[in-house]
Amino acid sequence: MAAKFGPAGNSKSFYDQGNSSSVDMPRWLADMGLDAYEYQCGRGVNIGQTTAAALGQQAERYGIVLSIHAPYYINLASDDAERIEKSIGHILKSARAAKWMGASRVVIHPGNVADGRKPSLERAKKALAGAWRRCKDEGLDDVHLCPETLGKKNQLGDLGEIMEMCRVDDSFIPTVDFGHLNARDMGWIKSIQEYEDILRVIEDKLGHDRLNHMHCHFSRIEYTEGGEKRHWTLDDAQYGPDFEPLAEALCRWDISPIIICESRDVMAEDARKMKDIYISACNKA
Ligand SMILES: [Zn+2]
Repeated sequence: MAAKFGPAGNSKSFYDQGNSSSVDMPRWLADMGLDAYEYQCGRGVNIGQTTAAALGQQAERYGIVLSIHAPYYINLASDDAERIEKSIGHILKSARAAKWMGASRVVIHPGNVADGRKPSLERAKKALAGAWRRCKDEGLDDVHLCPETLGKKNQLGDLGEIMEMCRVDDSFIPTVDFGHLNARDMGWIKSIQEYEDILRVIEDKLGHDRLNHMHCHFSRIEYTEGGEKRHWTLDDAQYGPDFEPLAEALCRWDISPIIICESRDVMAEDARKMKDIYISACNKA
């Protein structure tokens, strides 16, 4: 029973209770019995070194593992070389901020398919290799780059493509967003069997160690034919996928991922619910 749970960004209630700075999140999360926090740089890496270091100190004090979500506008699959170069710059900025705060993982959206899936994938792999080389040149090699499975069909990042990207370097860790995987293929995840199929693919392609330490995102996501439409909460049970069978699979496989909840507004509250579901599943297993 070693999976860690936490939110993507800050719950609405965190602000409603009068808090305003993410530096106060680690204590707030520890009070809720959570153990992880994904700092959001989706709209840009705007955190300064002093704030990042303060956040890192609080996280260490309260036993919260940190990750960073890199900007959404990164596109490593683009057929525009300048766009790719800029994207690599955003990965480097994210990795620097990660180092300042002691976050070991940088979550990256690969981008949109341009002229075809194959050439787009090849460009993304090359860009990740380039980004990683520059991270190492700057001494940022204790940070793990974590390409994420994406929710729309026109985005690069189905499970197989993320496996390919992670094979660029042994240090890369997959970010497996189960809501995205479910949404991009019309709600196919129905039971423990589909979850176990996903775990099997990761183990087969990347080995047990990277499966064991994988990074996960989870939320219920509404979809259309193109894939992801909107994130919902655990209580919005009309949208999939269900967390219970995933919890059961994680216990059965005895693996220790970091699981970040991306529910809308109540991400920390839902992370706590997911942790409870997980604990009770492992106690039954
Ligand atoms: Zn993401």
